Amino acid sequence: MSYQALYRVWRPQKFSDVVGQSHITRTLQNAIFQNKFSHAYLFSGPRGTGKTSAAKIFAKAVNCQSTPVREPCGECDACIGIQNGSISDIIEIDAASNNGVEQIRDIRDKVKYAPSSVAYKVYIIDEVHMLSIGAFNALLKTLEEPPQHVIFILATTEPHKIPLTIISRCQRFDFKRITHPFLISRMKEILGQEELEVTDEALHAIALAAEGGMRDALSLLDQAISYSDQKVELEDVLMITGSVSQGKLTELIDALYRQDTKSALNLVDLFIQEGKDPVRLVYDLIYFLRDLLLYQSASDFDDLLERAIVDQAFIDLQEEVSAEWIQRAITELNQCQQEMKWTNTPKVFIEITMLKLTEAQAEDRVSKQEVKQILQLSEKLDKLEKELHEVKNNKVPTNASAPKATQKRSSPTKNKYRIPYERIRQVLGEAEKKYLQAIQAKWAIFLQSLKQQSAPAYAVLQDARPSAASEDKLVISFKYDIHCSLALDHQQMIEALLLEVFGKNMHYIPIPEDNWLELRQDYIEKQRQQTKDENEESQEKDQEDPIVAEARKLVGDDLLEIHE
Ligand SMILES: [Zn+2]
Repeated sequence: MSYQALYRVWRPQKFSDVVGQSHITRTLQNAIFQNKFSHAYLFSGPRGTGKTSAAKIFAKAVNCQSTPVREPCGECDACIGIQNGSISDIIEIDAASNNGVEQIRDIRDKVKYAPSSVAYKVYIIDEVHMLSIGAFNALLKTLEEPPQHVIFILATTEPHKIPLTIISRCQRFDFKRITHPFLISRMKEILGQEELEVTDEALHAIALAAEGGMRDALSLLDQAISYSDQKVELEDVLMITGSVSQGKLTELIDALYRQDTKSALNLVDLFIQEGKDPVRLVYDLIYFLRDLLLYQSASDFDDLLERAIVDQAFIDLQEEVSAEWIQRAITELNQCQQEMKWTNTPKVFIEITMLKLTEAQAEDRVSKQEVKQILQLSEKLDKLEKELHEVKNNKVPTNASAPKATQKRSSPTKNKYRIPYERIRQVLGEAEKKYLQAIQAKWAIFLQSLKQQSAPAYAVLQDARPSAASEDKLVISFKYDIHCSLALDHQQMIEALLLEVFGKNMHYIPIPEDNWLELRQDYIEKQRQQTKDENEESQEKDQEDPIVAEARKLVGDDLLEIHE
């Protein structure tokens, strides 16, 4: 028996052989098993990820004689016939080679005939994006009303080239690149049965080069096996793929970052003499740097690494190189990659890029110094801000023992609110609980009206509290000094509104809350002394302490706390 390529021999026969696409295969299996499958599918995704294999398995599963099944049995006439291509009801079309309208017209003419030997005619159109506009239109007509016995499976690597009118008539599945662990474990499975020996490093290098495609992985493996004498080693794979080993990539990046231009250029020269592919080298560098960056941001991303194996040299390198430099290097290499497409002398472009990167490192050092300066400045600023804050806090009188006279004198600034203590004491002398209660009862309504009339005035008063009231005067306490003077800016409007809401003319006097509490305490103390003198004898008969009664009269029950 002549040698058959691994990827042909090991083409998936069942859904469970389709590696790394379980999100798709499981959905398809359920749909087939429950007989709820669609009549038009679009399988999109990178090459070698299992699209056409899945399509063929689908064709077997819907036609398998043991239906309903989740996997084709592989033993009935239908399964065997579809597998070896002898059943003409399963039609595979490669749109890349047959992109004519005729081919699709042919489908349109024959689609109405029932299948000859199985339950469903399945059209598998690979690389469907290659169809001409005319062919797409012909296909669209068929897709609009597909006969019950027909299933279309369109496969493509470039879904964006397919008209939306086609896409909208298909159930779409996006095949993902196959991750390294899946590629490697599948290769190991195959090697185990083929009794071939390949080192883990070699398998990893193959997985890297395959870029998520199983077909590419298996054909690289094939090449490596025929290239090597017995056991396949890392060097064999690197020779075949034209890749540079991770050790050499590390060496090159280290040289670039250390601004060792000579070593960097010597390495590049050596690679090219050894026959490495310059395009591949730039590509590998980009992905290796990307992995460094990813690993720097979180070391538990290591299963997302594309090019790198985490070894000590890799860990050392990611600690040494700055993220900014890596980003810049990727940008430069990316540009190099573009320029290399149009040149016969790619080596020159790589060399220029190497020079740019050593310069970028020099710039990086400068910018790091700048960053240091900025950090120092910002520290200074923080310190100043803290000091300013402390100075400010010391100015605000929070201590109840601060004498009032001093307070008046120590408020020289224009904006500082001068508390009219005398007027407030007067109000307290005339204050009664019922006045305050009346105000409190409608305070919310008052605020609501204020909000509608003036947002700035409302903003100032929303946290303020009516604290004491006489017949025509109201003391309002504010959390912040500044709000007291701001409240007076709106005096006319606020007093007009007080008249409107409470039905009488009222003047209001703002006071900062801290000062209010202090003043009230002070006032009650004085009253206590006075009452004590006046009522020395009658006091015993009273149920309620007259001082408490006085305080109650003044501020109302809700604000009064009685301490023994
Ligand atoms: Zn079967």
